[in-house]
Amino acid sequence: MSADSGNPAFVAFEHVQKSYDGETLVVKDLNLSIGKGEFLTMLGPSGSGKTTCLMMLAGFETATHGEIRLGGRPINNIPPHKRGIGMVFQNYALFPHMTVGENLAFPLEVRKMDKATIEAKVARALDMVQMGRFAGRRPAQMSGGQQQRIALARALVFDAELVLMDEPLGALDKQLREHMQYEIKHLHEQLGITVVYVTHDQSEALTMSDRVAVFNDGRIQQLDPPEDLYERPTNSFVAQFIGENNTLSGVVETISGDRCAVRLADGSLVHALPVNVSKPGDRTLISIRPERVEFRPDRLPQDTYRIEAEVLEFIYMGDSFRTRLRVAGNDNFIMKCRNAVDQRRLAAGEKVVIGWHVADCRALDSA
Ligand code: ADP
Repeated sequence: MSADSGNPAFVAFEHVQKSYDGETLVVKDLNLSIGKGEFLTMLGPSGSGKTTCLMMLAGFETATHGEIRLGGRPINNIPPHKRGIGMVFQNYALFPHMTVGENLAFPLEVRKMDKATIEAKVARALDMVQMGRFAGRRPAQMSGGQQQRIALARALVFDAELVLMDEPLGALDKQLREHMQYEIKHLHEQLGITVVYVTHDQSEALTMSDRVAVFNDGRIQQLDPPEDLYERPTNSFVAQFIGENNTLSGVVETISGDRCAVRLADGSLVHALPVNVSKPGDRTLISIRPERVEFRPDRLPQDTYRIEAEVLEFIYMGDSFRTRLRVAGNDNFIMKCRNAVDQRRLAAGEKVVIGWHVADCRALDSA
């Protein structure tokens, strides 16, 4: 579900800017609409402005410029506890002196609900995260994963329609983190809540989200569903940040419709899809995923580009082979092949011809 699908925006950032010191903008003219029920992830390197955006939405930071709306209402002047937003952070921030049940009851008591309602809601929230038996425990008597589940239940206990999560799984080990990703995704589906999630972990973002906003330097670089981000990056930053990527740098020689020819430093001429280039003479980084590089280009039906390469290293990885090649002077060109019955091993020093579909090779900005 996305704000593009005709849904009115549930959360809207309009021309939002933020400066902490009155000089540097750490969020620069942010425009973002999030649909009701959407799972939107803000993904980007550390310092790119993600948490600042989340904090402005939560009400713990104020925007220097622009407007933030929730359910159509401007919320710039509404204090955090009146926004009705649930929050989960990496350091769970459960009250250590309270039991799990008391931790969960707390936000409801603040809202002055009666005892019976509180009990029912606490029990329901604990069931949602399969922690019904833990109501009497204190945080210190639980594992990290269990504490994080309780933090999640606490964000859900007052039926918030919007839940913000900032690196909530960052402190957990890999296996538990992956398990919790699925739990959060399922809870999102079951409850129909809107989630805004912050992470620097791309696989987490790709697994869980309806759409991902890739941040860099205070700006959204691309806002798209996971598959589009990976398959169709619109600039070099996104192509390099998401997944693995081969790049070759060159200058556009000709452009015609959905094809361009790029002259590389070593003189080779590569054909690519012009994405972020507009005219001959533009500097460009052409970008291609390792799994789109084909060792036997004759297997690609048509619209194929072929180039000679030298094998530098061949690595067996079980289900796949990774070959490091020298291609047009780039010694770090990676080809990833499935370990198929007919896939032969390559030896260092071998000269081969590789290829790819021209459409999989994207001419992006030179970054
Ligand atoms: P991210 O969540 O992407 O890591 P942040 O929003 O936390 O990025 O930070 C963006 C920039 O703002 C960084 O340069 C950071 O140092 C700065 N920053 C964040 N919080 C504060 C603050 N409370 N005071 C001053 N600068 C801050």
